[in-house]
Parts: sequence; C-alpha cells; structure tokens
Amino acid sequence: MRWQLLNSGRATRWGTFFKGFLLIALFIVSSTWLGLSRDTRAAGRARPVDVGDQEYWPIPLLAREFGVQYHSFDDKRFRLANREMELSFEVGGRRAFVNGVLVWLHEPVLPGRRAPMLSATDVETILSPLLRPLDSLRQVGYQRVVLDAGHGGNDPGAQGPTGSVEKDLALTVTLGIAKLLEEAGVDVYLTRRDDSRLSLSNRVVRTREAGGDLFVSLHFNSSANTDAQGSETFVLTAGGHASTSQQPGGSYPAAVEANEFDGANALLGFLIQQRLLEQTGNQDRGLRRARFYVLREAVTPAVLVEAGFLTNLDEEARVMDPAFQARIIRGIADGILDYTGLVMRARIEDYL
Ligand SMILES: [Zn+2]
Repeated sequence: MRWQLLNSGRATRWGTFFKGFLLIALFIVSSTWLGLSRDTRAAGRARPVDVGDQEYWPIPLLAREFGVQYHSFDDKRFRLANREMELSFEVGGRRAFVNGVLVWLHEPVLPGRRAPMLSATDVETILSPLLRPLDSLRQVGYQRVVLDAGHGGNDPGAQGPTGSVEKDLALTVTLGIAKLLEEAGVDVYLTRRDDSRLSLSNRVVRTREAGGDLFVSLHFNSSANTDAQGSETFVLTAGGHASTSQQPGGSYPAAVEANEFDGANALLGFLIQQRLLEQTGNQDRGLRRARFYVLREAVTPAVLVEAGFLTNLDEEARVMDPAFQARIIRGIADGILDYTGLVMRARIEDYL
C-alpha cells in the first residue's frame, strides 16, 4: 500500500520538484561554503617556502599552528615547548633533541630570512606526530605486538671480541620483552622463538599472517670503529629523502606503502629510544632513518632497535651481564607499552 502511494503520479511530481529544490539549495550552500573556506585559507594560512625541491615552514609559524611556545636562544639555537614536549633545534644541522633524546631530521634546519625553517617532511614525520600524537594513531592497532629477534641459525649477526653473538643476545632480549608484555596483558607474537634461521621476507610474512599491529625488531650493533657505542632506534626514511647515514640533497627512493605509518613509526621509535636510554644510561645515537628491508616492507608500524655495540669492549661486557640485559628489556617493553597506551587513548577519544 505504501509503495503504491509513493508511486502515485502526484507524489512523483512533488518528489521531482522537491529533489530539484534540494539540489539547487545544496549547490548554493556548497558553493558559498567552498568560496568562504578558500578565502579563509588565503587570508589566514601561510604557505610553505620552496627551497630547491623541498618545502619549508618558518618555525615561529609552526609554533602558532601547534600552540607551543617558541624561544630562540641566539640566531642558531631555538626551542619549541609545551607542557609535555620540549624540542630543540640548531640551524644548519639535522639533529633535534626531543625531551633530551636525539632525533635525526630528514633535512637540515635552514636559517630563513626572518626566522629558522623546518622542512615540511620533518613537520609531517616528526613535529606533528610528537605534538599531536593521537592524530597519527587513529588508523593503527595496538593489540598484537610482533617481536622479531634479528638473525638466527647459521646467520649469527655481529660477534664481539669476547664471544658475544648477536643472534643469541637478540633472542634473550626478545624473550624477556615478550614476558614483560604478556604480564602486562599484551598479546605477543614472536617471529622466532629458538635458534632458527629466518629470511627477512618471512619475518614480514609472519607478521602479516599473525595479524600483528606493530613490529619491533631487536638487534645488537657492530662497527669497525671499536670506540663506537650506544643505542639507536631506526624507522623508515620518508620518500625522496636521505637516510640518516646519507647526505641530504641527492636523489633517493620514492615513498613506499609502509610510509603510511610515518607518524606512528616516529612515535613508536621515539618512545622506545627514550625508555631504553632512561633504563640503560647508554650513549644516545638517536632515533634514525633507514630503508632496511623489514622497515620498507612493513605491514604495520615498525622499528628496528640496535641496543648496543658488541664490538666495543665495555659495551659488550655490559650487554652480556644479565642484570644489564634486564634494563634493556625493561626499557624496550616500557616504550612499547607507552605506545600501545597512546593508541588506546586515540581509540577511546574516537568513541567520545
Ligand atoms: Zn643485526
């Protein structure tokens, strides 16, 4: 009966009239709104400055945009701060300090005509995730943590002068972190739980098949320079930019799918590096950028931790000590828990 009424000639004529009216009204409203917003954008929003093929933002303007304080110590050093974060930069360099932790930028900070400038890439991949963390975490999960002990089987990884072997230390640390996370109620998946060899692609495949939400790969470092020591945490380099060990300005690989996690990666990496240093007091080699296979092919936010150098005699002795291993384990687990806590907060805010 209802169907017939709606399909009567009269209803159809009124329906057509009404639809036409609605369309015209919608057109007027939307064009006014679009026009207004275009004007607002032109009047209220500044544009980035082109420098070579990079876009840069004046830092005082970013301070206004993010609602943080800007303070310049002299014409080279300056700081952005709110209640939780303090970021300091130096003109001409790629080193920034975030709450005292070294964070490597993609591009150097430029002097600018009136004020120092930060590259748009570093605004997107560092500044914005750290100052507005929840915005970077709305599309990612937190429930299943994948821990990946580097190397294994006939691939020992780095070896230290007094007998330390990377694959064994990585597994010990990984199992320790898994235990702490499980005690905290987190679901953990391990890519390997014994001394078996595992290809890099299998580490990614297993993460995907296990339905992982984040990926943390554990390693120990080596260097021909036996003085080198300290901890560093790697996340994927942004498309078109130099990794931390490369010179900026050259031509570098374009973005890949895993770059969609740039914001979440920065947070996960920063939080782990911060807690790891807090627990161990290790030398800070920073949150760095690289295109390692497990970062480039990642199907979730992903970081790779190099907890210490086996080729440094003092550091090798420390990392072989179970009491010190416990600090490494606690630090990395705390960083992961800081991150999953933030993702949970982002989820809760979405529901409110
Ligand atoms: Zn390794």
